[in-house]
Amino acid sequence: MTGLVIRTTGSWYKVLPLSDGGVPQAASAAVDCRLRGSYRLRGNKQTNPVAVGDHVDYSLQSDGTGVISEVADRRNYIVRKATKLSKQTHVIAANIDRLCIVVSLAPPRTTTGFIDRLLVTAEAYHVPAAILFNKADLYDADLREEYEVLKLIYQGAGYDVRLLSALDGTGVADLRRDLAGQTVLFSGHSGVGKSALLNAIAPQLNLRVGDISQWSLKGKHTTTFAEIFPVSIASSPDRDANAGTPGALYLIDTPGIKEFGMVDIEPAELSHFFPEMRRYLHGCHFANCTHRHEPHCAVKDALDRVDPDTGLPLISAGRYANYLGIFDQIASGNEPW
Ligand code: GDP
Ligand code: ZN
Repeated sequence: MTGLVIRTTGSWYKVLPLSDGGVPQAASAAVDCRLRGSYRLRGNKQTNPVAVGDHVDYSLQSDGTGVISEVADRRNYIVRKATKLSKQTHVIAANIDRLCIVVSLAPPRTTTGFIDRLLVTAEAYHVPAAILFNKADLYDADLREEYEVLKLIYQGAGYDVRLLSALDGTGVADLRRDLAGQTVLFSGHSGVGKSALLNAIAPQLNLRVGDISQWSLKGKHTTTFAEIFPVSIASSPDRDANAGTPGALYLIDTPGIKEFGMVDIEPAELSHFFPEMRRYLHGCHFANCTHRHEPHCAVKDALDRVDPDTGLPLISAGRYANYLGIFDQIASGNEPW
């Protein structure tokens, strides 16, 4: 049998059986599994052999528990260091379909620096990202205009950009439809409305709104381990009734983990994590161009060239400025963030 790991506690793993089509069954069908005694970690860089989000093969025992025999290759995963100085890493979650970055142009306003750091992290982990501009109901004409420009910039870089309001429901039905069947990690600084937005998508979550402590599925659990919450969104009248669209959202919660994952990026490779820069890298005169002060730099040239479709520069000055900021930060100590 195959299943999706939704929780890990010590040597036990909670596994949702997957149907032949790969669709997980209801949370009530979860099976408590252990790892086969002879299972060996491939390589020794990671301290945990099984993480939430893993797809596993398991067999049922007569007592109703399961034994995991195989862990499928991961499409992507996020890690943190096992201990502060360790070279080993701990896999927080695997096979993430989407990172939803919740941001707001109304107070508490999110900076593009924050957005771009998270996007670099998402690129480094190969996790597709969406930027959700929440609190749309509070945007006046100026903020609305600003949103439209940011939308063009980030869409141009290849990201999914959406306008949302947890308060008046703007964009909520579309988001719910598009997240159905996906394993999603929500991130964003406190106060931007993550809890309110999740409640709007799935009211049964009933998360506390307006709590200034760091977001997590409060009251649902007390562990500090990442966990996946299967949330039924099938009962919604807005749901797209397409056959085969599983009516569930698999919400990853990472309590106690301040930022989603840690990354260790060399300054020289940073531009690879800005998709719109990646397009021009081959045009730079120097193969090891850092796109700061080098002559004949195709990235810097693109700052001055205008996209005829949008009327905006091919690479935005704001994104480039954030590139320089992150470059300096990692060059001065290579601190993961
Ligand atoms: P979190 O810290 O990101 O989980 O943010 P919360 O969901 O707790 O929301 C923080 C505050 O913003 C609360 O007072 C919410 O009522 C408010 N809020 C959240 N979403 C919206 C929205 O779309 N519009 C407006 N006007 N307020 C919102
Ligand atoms: Zn260059």
